[in-house]
Amino acid sequence: EIRLRFAPSPTGFIHIGSIRTALYNYLFARRNNGKFILRIEDTDQTRFVEGAIENLIESLHWAGIEYDEGIFVEDGKIVQKGDYGPYIQSERLDIYKKYVDELIEKGHAYYCFCSKERLESVREEQKIKGLVPKYDGFCRNISLEEAKIRIANGEEYVVRLKLPQNYDIKFHDLVRGDIVINTDDIDDQVLLKSDGYPTYHMAVVVDDHLMKISHIVRGEEWLPSTPKHIYLYEVFGWEKPTYVHLPTVLNKDRKKLSKRQGDVSVEDFRDKGYLPEGLVNYLALVGWSPEDNEEILSMEELINKFSFERVSKTGGIFDKDKLNWVNGHYIRSSSVEKITDLAIPHLTEAGLIDKSFTRDKYDWLKLLVHTVQESLDTISDVVEKVEFIFKDHVEIVEEDALEIIKGEQVSSVLTAIKEELNNVEVVDEEYAKGFMKLIQKATGVKGKNLFMPARVALTGTAHGPEFVNILVLLGKENIIKRIEYVEK
Ligand code: GLU
Repeated sequence: EIRLRFAPSPTGFIHIGSIRTALYNYLFARRNNGKFILRIEDTDQTRFVEGAIENLIESLHWAGIEYDEGIFVEDGKIVQKGDYGPYIQSERLDIYKKYVDELIEKGHAYYCFCSKERLESVREEQKIKGLVPKYDGFCRNISLEEAKIRIANGEEYVVRLKLPQNYDIKFHDLVRGDIVINTDDIDDQVLLKSDGYPTYHMAVVVDDHLMKISHIVRGEEWLPSTPKHIYLYEVFGWEKPTYVHLPTVLNKDRKKLSKRQGDVSVEDFRDKGYLPEGLVNYLALVGWSPEDNEEILSMEELINKFSFERVSKTGGIFDKDKLNWVNGHYIRSSSVEKITDLAIPHLTEAGLIDKSFTRDKYDWLKLLVHTVQESLDTISDVVEKVEFIFKDHVEIVEEDALEIIKGEQVSSVLTAIKEELNNVEVVDEEYAKGFMKLIQKATGVKGKNLFMPARVALTGTAHGPEFVNILVLLGKENIIKRIEYVEK
């Protein structure tokens, strides 16, 4: 059976690289009619963050990444579903303890009583000698009997993996190929901490085995840990899963995307106004491409085309421009209603509209959003694109616009606009469509000389969206006000 898992630590947010890991797991599971599991790896209690699990689930849900088993939120409460629970590591301490004991009994692990200070000074000494810091095996040969007495006497301890010397650990990775690491280059990993919690290494192996995980798909930062895991599978006599280590998501300078450089979490991108379809589509392409090199892909298509063979070995570059392009595609192909609803919070936050406004001017808002929809990369772009409509008047500062407004026939065009508006109560779409024709008749001015001054007077610039829409959006009074402001 194909079973995959996403096993994040609840740190409070999902990094963009992490959601891509979840996505690849999901795509492969779906592609192969397998099961996808969400497990929470919270064995590092110092990193506990309130609400982090809920947050994480919300981000997955938003991205459209669904899973079959594990941790869910229902009616605001965390619930667990599936036959292999509990799916939260802090609720599985007894299970890990049992397997740690088994390792100790079989001589594959040992109690270690070294103090922090001792470990620190060993490391310092090794560094001075130019060695790679590594536990020196000080407690390896303490007999089990003696260790148990010391524990009974209340001494603090951890449990370490007892690696054999000079032994090649081999495994195959679907992206990286065959990998061999000698145990002389690996530390006697701590498996059980002094607080009674297992380390990631112990818990991950036990859980992946008991939860019958067939494929472990995770970021390549875990690659150095894998030999230790493989060794544990060997000494337990368990069947090993298939490993897939994904290239790190890098920025354009080929460095890890870090929080300091701005947006890195799924929430950041959602708040900026990226659509889940856009973000997911783009992320799928960071480190993978389909055979036909198609770039716009729905979740459905991603599932149908996904394979690990086409995951690249080198880091995937996160290219914001490309993301914007993909996202813009999804904005353009969405309904006006959808984009309007998504735009409302941004317009509200920018102080352009308020709640009561939204209710009685929904059609107007829809036209507003429709007018700029083509030009949006993200939903938040809407604010800067439509701001000019909400102003009392617009300043003309751009050079080409200033040139236009100084033109000879400008004043007669502007006067005609004001006068023509005396004939109507409201500027509706029908009227707006024929409006400039009326001005042309009244003034005899044609083409550019007619349209450009009007556009500049009403919008402040010579470039911009559909003029007919602008007339409707501004309405009679605002048009007159703007013309008068220019005339002054
Ligand atoms: N808890 C690890 C993380 O936060 C999971 C690594 C793995 O998938 O084995 O990324």
